[in-house]
Amino acid sequence: MARLDERLDRVFGSKTAKVLAGALDLRTAGDLLHHYPRRYEKHGELTDMASLRDGEQVTVLAKIASCTTRRMQRKRGWVTEVRVTDGHGVLSLLFFQQRYLEAKLRPGLQGLFAGEVSTYGNRRQLVHPDYELIGAAGAGVELAAEYDDNLIPVYPASAKLPSWKIAKAIRTVLAFVLQTVLAQRRRAQDALPATPRIPRGGGLLEAFDARLPFTLTAGQREAGTDITTALCRDHPMHRLLQGEVGSGKTVIAVRAMLQVVDDGGQAALLAPTEVLAQQHYRSIVELLGPLAQAGQLGGAEQATRVALVTGSQGARVRKETLRDVRFGDAGIVIGTHALLYDRAKDDERVEFFDLGLVVVDEQHRFGVEQRDALRGKARDSRPHLLVMTATPIPRTVAMTVFGDLDILTLTELPAGRAPIQTHVVPAAEKPHYLARTWARLREEVEKSGGQAYVVCPRIGGDTSETNNGDITEDPGGSPRTDTGADLAEPGGSDAAARPSHAVLDMAAELSSGPLAGLRLRIMHGRMAADEKDAVMREFADGSVDVLVATTVVEVGVDVPNATAMVIMDADRFGVSQLHQLRGRVGRGAKPGLCLLVTDAPEGSKARERLDLVAATLDGFELSRIDLEQRGEGNVLGVAQAGRKKSLRLLTLLKDGKLIGDARQEATALVAADPGLAGHPALAAAITALLDEEQAEFLEKA
Ligand code: ADP
Ligand code: MG
Repeated sequence: MARLDERLDRVFGSKTAKVLAGALDLRTAGDLLHHYPRRYEKHGELTDMASLRDGEQVTVLAKIASCTTRRMQRKRGWVTEVRVTDGHGVLSLLFFQQRYLEAKLRPGLQGLFAGEVSTYGNRRQLVHPDYELIGAAGAGVELAAEYDDNLIPVYPASAKLPSWKIAKAIRTVLAFVLQTVLAQRRRAQDALPATPRIPRGGGLLEAFDARLPFTLTAGQREAGTDITTALCRDHPMHRLLQGEVGSGKTVIAVRAMLQVVDDGGQAALLAPTEVLAQQHYRSIVELLGPLAQAGQLGGAEQATRVALVTGSQGARVRKETLRDVRFGDAGIVIGTHALLYDRAKDDERVEFFDLGLVVVDEQHRFGVEQRDALRGKARDSRPHLLVMTATPIPRTVAMTVFGDLDILTLTELPAGRAPIQTHVVPAAEKPHYLARTWARLREEVEKSGGQAYVVCPRIGGDTSETNNGDITEDPGGSPRTDTGADLAEPGGSDAAARPSHAVLDMAAELSSGPLAGLRLRIMHGRMAADEKDAVMREFADGSVDVLVATTVVEVGVDVPNATAMVIMDADRFGVSQLHQLRGRVGRGAKPGLCLLVTDAPEGSKARERLDLVAATLDGFELSRIDLEQRGEGNVLGVAQAGRKKSLRLLTLLKDGKLIGDARQEATALVAADPGLAGHPALAAAITALLDEEQAEFLEKA
């Protein structure tokens, strides 16, 4: 097979490249890709110490038995001796003047240790070996991921380069290959025709801006300008707008949609749940006011209509709505995935008059296929695409997971927001804190006129403990339960023995006890869509004080008067999820309060995570922590499953700069040689990668 270009020195810098070339005769990325592991070590199957030979360069997988530091006898200073074992034999690792290693190389941990075997007395040893711990906090994400697989590749190593560094180098090249795929995809999209949507003076957008009850933040204006420009091009826009929870993404989407409507097109807004679709519908209709009342008394002259298409709609309503969509009377069409799929009967097909823009809200719940299914509904040319995500993720991760999109990031929150205060409530240790929690909630409602959420991991009302998962409406593939049970991290909760709090029980307990007299309602995924909508309406218009709910309120729900949230068994939720949940309060001018109730004892891992969430409001920082702890695939969810595999091979967090560079280089390369005619090995590597990745997943467009 042809070679994959001379680029190792460009990818790793000349030092590493030199070592790879000198010791292993690996000069090109292609060479590296075909440098197969000599063997795979199975996790748990430790290297046989008896097989080690004096003078041999080795990488061993072993468990730390002891770690001690003593004064050296002849020289000044300290030597730290770590003894590692395969269960039978022992190997000594010696480190000089590195006492701090004692805290790191703790007995019981496993790791890879690489160096040259020497003998001292009758004991084999490695002096100053390279090492990488596995499965320990702080161990590399990539190793933690490999640990999942139970297989640890051990490459033919060299004196200067331990085998896991080779593994890392190989992963980097795979980065590069993936970035090239994504760059190709971006370029292919760029080459497609799209209808430019030019802003029109005196149109809806202008009228909307004049009506807005607030001033846009600098970030919102910047993103708006970028989008306005992109919509004027005759190639499809493909932007990812990621923003901190509550940063005001919706209004950016509405402005983009109005620009398209002003030019005679239609825009579709896809929401992941009916609750969110309904909420978008209500709030957009309200924001638009007379601008959304075409054909109605009091409607503005240039007005359009907003249509809502959901799965639970009755046949008659749906038929009328779809007619508005088909004939173009509805400029803005809001829906769940019901928008994507046609019902059997012919007159129930979802057809647009002229679909010019697709907005996807909360992207992390949608797969690429679904995004594309909707884009396919445009008539002649491709619609523009704006994807929004509320799970802020570090840029390098975004570049890879959403590598086919250009990224816009909103970091600031609208001015005048009082920050959310978060406190951990250790209910097991200090039961009276829980009583105070309810008193505080009552105060919030009675004294301050606020509203509150109480979030529980389960629905309840079911004798079986495993079977009452709350299936949220998740089109992203396999159903996602909001029991939270699957979200608990390994080593997380040791309260698992007790069933978690459930919505039904909690609501009963609160309404007859500490919150008696307040207007309480429940909401969970087993309720019918119209029931959920009715409750949400009541909560939004202030006729409900306390909403006891599962994570159906997790994303997007926007009730600015809601100021307090109590999360029961908070340790059973992931870090990013807690951040999402708490983002439901503090959305208006009143300060928000979030209380994380837990039985996790002080000092436990679970408790540490909660303290972290309480300590920072920075979603990017929290998602970085989440990624480190759980691995990219888990955080980003099943919808992105197709890319999980390559992600596992990448060290997205650690190798951020490399990924950025790879993306740039890949873009330049694809620009110069779109068909990769001059880079046959790269083309072949891509084919192989795509096969593995389910080619249709990436290739869809
Ligand atoms: P998210 O980015 O989490 O989707 P939303 O778009 O729902 O956030 O906005 C959160 C709230 O902030 C909404 O009530 C919205 O009307 C309001 N909002 C948006 N932009 C601004 C702004 N510039 N100033 C004040 N409030 C704003
Ligand atoms: Mg939102």
